[in-house]
Amino acid sequence: MRRHNAAFCGEHFVDHIRRQVQRTIDDFDMFDHDDSLLLGVSGGKDSLALWDVLTDLGYEVDGVNLELGIGPYSEDSTGYSRRFAHERGLRLLEVDLGRDYGFTIPVAAASTSRTACSACGLSKRYVLNHVARTHGYNVLVMGHNLDDEAATLFSNVTNWNIDYLARQHPVLQESDRGLARKVKPLIRVAERETAAYAVIRGIDYEIDECPMAAGNTLNQIKEHLNAMEHTSPGMKQRFLFGFLERGTPVFRGEPRPVLDACDVCGSPTTGDVCAFCKLRAATQRTESGEDDDG
Ligand code: SF4
Ligand code: ZN
Repeated sequence: MRRHNAAFCGEHFVDHIRRQVQRTIDDFDMFDHDDSLLLGVSGGKDSLALWDVLTDLGYEVDGVNLELGIGPYSEDSTGYSRRFAHERGLRLLEVDLGRDYGFTIPVAAASTSRTACSACGLSKRYVLNHVARTHGYNVLVMGHNLDDEAATLFSNVTNWNIDYLARQHPVLQESDRGLARKVKPLIRVAERETAAYAVIRGIDYEIDECPMAAGNTLNQIKEHLNAMEHTSPGMKQRFLFGFLERGTPVFRGEPRPVLDACDVCGSPTTGDVCAFCKLRAATQRTESGEDDDG
């Protein structure tokens, strides 16, 4: 691990990752053993590695898998989540976008001007929050890693998206806004490191890339950041953690938008109808052959 100027055997690498996660949980005061934790699980390396780490650290964590309806890719991903939970006796809640909400991500992308990834991100945020609230979990744990967060920060900075910069933090304390506290304990661990952890721990995960990922701008940013990391080891970590230490206090002062209940589903939203209900309505209009204005 060039950014730590260190090398580990398998056993000590696993210890190192556990310590990195526990340190992140403690430093950001994310949760303790009394909290009721729900982890968003995708069948990929990050969420399954995190589930493994948290369980080993003694936390009781249930998972929730969202089936996105992206053909065999989604079926395979759900299969990896199910097998992981089953083999370890963990509880996995399952939501199927097609069965439970009447649309899939490819249909959502075809029905609106949103990209597949934008419709997907919106759906994940909405459904995972909804499951956490309705099942009584007070903390929603997400498997975003260092690469994910650094790429998001880079995108928010290049677009000077002040609202997003104000909210980019590994702990979103939103219980006063009708949302579960959202936490990201994996942000000190790079993508290659979660992959190595999964291999060492014998975790089977989805290795194929989502067929709808073409054009995903965050993936393109990750490639550029990796090129910079190659010549300047530790650059991604300095970029992200420097922002959290020195940038966050500056942007946190920005006023938060006022939230009201969505007229359709009652979830917190800045408008009359939340973005997810609008997306869902657009897919229904497409299915019934009506035009959509996006
Ligand atoms: Fe969703 Fe895009 Fe990721 Fe596919 S690549 S799972 S569409 S966010
Ligand atoms: Zn709604």
